[in-house]
Order: sequence, then C-alpha cells, then structure tokens
Amino acid sequence: MKTVSLEQELNPWEAQAARFDFAAQKLNLDEGLWKILRYPQREIIVHIPVAMDNGTLEVFTGFRVQHSIARGPAKGGVRYSPDVTLDEVRALASWMTWKCAVVNIPFGGAKGGIIVDPKKLSLSELEKMTRRYTAELIEFLGPEKDVPAPDMNTNEQTMAWMMDTYSMHMRQTVTSVVTGKPLTIGGSRGRLEATGRGVLVVCDEALRKFEMSRESTRLIVQGFGNVGSNAAKLMSDAGYKVIGIAEYDGGLFNRNGINIDKLLEYRDRNKTVVGFPGAEASDPKQLLLEDCEILIPAATENVITSQNAAGIKARIICEGANGPTTAAADEILADKKVFVIPDILANAGGVTASYFEWVQDRQGYFWKESAVNEQLEFILREAFEDVVHFSETHHVNNRIAAYMLAISRVAHTIKLRGIYA
Ligand code: GLU
Repeated sequence: MKTVSLEQELNPWEAQAARFDFAAQKLNLDEGLWKILRYPQREIIVHIPVAMDNGTLEVFTGFRVQHSIARGPAKGGVRYSPDVTLDEVRALASWMTWKCAVVNIPFGGAKGGIIVDPKKLSLSELEKMTRRYTAELIEFLGPEKDVPAPDMNTNEQTMAWMMDTYSMHMRQTVTSVVTGKPLTIGGSRGRLEATGRGVLVVCDEALRKFEMSRESTRLIVQGFGNVGSNAAKLMSDAGYKVIGIAEYDGGLFNRNGINIDKLLEYRDRNKTVVGFPGAEASDPKQLLLEDCEILIPAATENVITSQNAAGIKARIICEGANGPTTAAADEILADKKVFVIPDILANAGGVTASYFEWVQDRQGYFWKESAVNEQLEFILREAFEDVVHFSETHHVNNRIAAYMLAISRVAHTIKLRGIYA
C-alpha cells in the first residue's frame, strides 16, 4: 500500500478506503460497483438546538451517514464524543456495511454521531439533545429504513429516548426502530454483553486453530467500557487469564491474573479502574507492548499505529473496537505474522444480537438468553471460518479477507437488484 502522512494514517475514512481499495482490487471488482461502494449513499448533518439547564441555548452538530441499504435497512450505532468528525462517521458507517455482510445478516450500514462531551451535560440536557437529534432525522429512520443502536457514550437509556421520540412522531409504539434498548421496552436478552461474547467466540476459534488452551492464554484488554469489560469478564470466567487492563486514565497489570469480578465491583464503586488493589499500576500505552498471547483493543480508533506496531508482542490481536489498527500498522503486523481478528468480524457480536432484537420486536416474541447466545455463537463461528477460509484461498490477511468476503456479498446484491434510474 502507498506511503501516507501520519495525519492521513490516523484518518479513519482513509483507513477504511485503503483497505476497501485493496480488497476491491484483489476481487477484480467491477469499476462501477467500486464507485458505488466506495462512498456512502447518504450523509446527513443536523444542527441540534438544546435549551440548557442554565437558561442558555446551545447548538450541537450531529451526523447520520447511511453507507449502504443494498442488503437491508441501514444499521449502526450513534456515538457522542467531542472528537466526532464526519470522516469518522463515514468510516464507521462503511464498516457497519462490511460487518453486517461478514456475519451475513440482512442489514446495510450506517453510523451516527454528535460532537459533544456528554460528561458535561446533565441527564435532562442529554435527553433533550437525543430527542431533538432523533426528531431532526425522523424521515430517515425506521425499522425498514435505518435502525440506530448504542455506541461510544450512548446506552440503553439513549435508545429508550430515541424509541420514544420516534414513536411519538408515528403516534404508535415502534420498538424495532432502535436496538440496544432496555429489556422491558423491547430489548433482547444477551444484547448488552453480546459484543464481548462475540470477542470470546472468535478468540476461542483462534485458539482452536492454533491448538492453544484458554488456561495458557494471557490477555491484555485495552478499554474497559461495554465491550472491554464484558469481554474481560466472559473470558476470565471461561478460563483465560487477564493480565492487563489499559484504560484512558491508567493501566493495571498482574502477571498472575486480575480478578475481573473484583475489578468490576471496584470500578462501579470508584468510577475508575485506577487504584484497584489487585494489580500493579501500569502505563496504559506500555501495556499494549507487554508479552501476552492475545491483545484486545476495545476502546476506539488508532490505538495500534505505525508508531507502536513493531513493539507489539501479542500473537493474536482481537479488535473489540472499530478501527483500532491503522492500515500502516496492518503491514507491520503482517510482517510479524500477528494473527489479527479484524473489527468487522471480532466485534460483530453486538450487531448480530441487534439483529435478533429487531427480529424479536417485529415478531413480538422474545427469546430465552440461551437461544440468543447459541445463535450468536453459531453465526460468529461460521463468519470466522468463512474469513479464515477466504484468507487462505486468496492469500491475503484476515482483514482483507473479511473485506473481500463482505464486498463480494454486497456487490452481488447490487448486481441482482440493478440500478434504479
Ligand atoms: N455500535 C455497535 C457497532 O459498532 C453496534 C451497532 C448495532 O448494533 O447496530 O457494531
């Protein structure tokens, strides 16, 4: 791949496009389809006025990007962060298209974001902002159009507000307009832990491939939000040894294994992992370079870059986050023969359970948790096998294999549907 500046390397849209172009070229993708799939189908920018608690008016900028609806309604989360950019949301929307295609669920891809530091807003300000954002997008959302879900700094409560706002406009309750809702208003059992569970399933598959055991596998998890904390909990329950946790405000290391149940209790009480007595304090950046079998970046983009990839000692990287590895870092990791389980496969457990939630809402019939988990495992195992098989038959790394598999599935649908003129 061509050499790029660090700024370009760290732009998620460039990161997505570099992999897309490479995979499309490997697939010999038709030029017209290439042009269609390279860019999002629709990009919406909204300015959201909010009456703040102190009586002033604030205006926030929000985005919703629908990359593709070829395989079904657009699907993807909404994130609240001061660093959100349109390029980032574009990349994340494209990744949702590829992710849904990798696990073969009938959705396209979308993503939303609002430029805001949610920690600076009161609950009532957050509610007003969420409702107005939903209202601004009303004609673009719907169970058959575009179905949002939680992402960074949004949660079940955010989804409950979005569902209610949409329902008020429709004059009827429409639970299937968003997923990741609380259980009592159409949520699915198992959805909250689903991304972490998916990480466990694909790591298990990697161990099977390399004939490794859970007990002799040391993990370092970067990020202890929904994805990282659930992956750490489920994997330590399953027998893996979690030796490091890297958070934005500090890191923890214990070569004998960190007790995740105790850490979760500590974090809930103290709102941080820092100071946890069951491990040594450690520099979170340094933790990425510690000796371990599996490194799980589960926070945000651009964590593994050309600047630190050479120092990584993990044999397997399982991407719980979206876009944690840059395209330049991919090449360094490939030279080091690191087995990367790419984001669009590794964190697809979340959207897969979202699919189950959408199905349950539309049926009005809710599944047992064991049924959700069983189906999730089945889908992710199959996707893992498909990706590894693609990688072996096409002689490409797992990420390019996952893109190739996804692009070929989406391209096939577009060809069948044809172009409406
Ligand atoms: N935000 C999650 C993701 O990036 C979940 C999306 C969804 O469930 O629609 O995959």
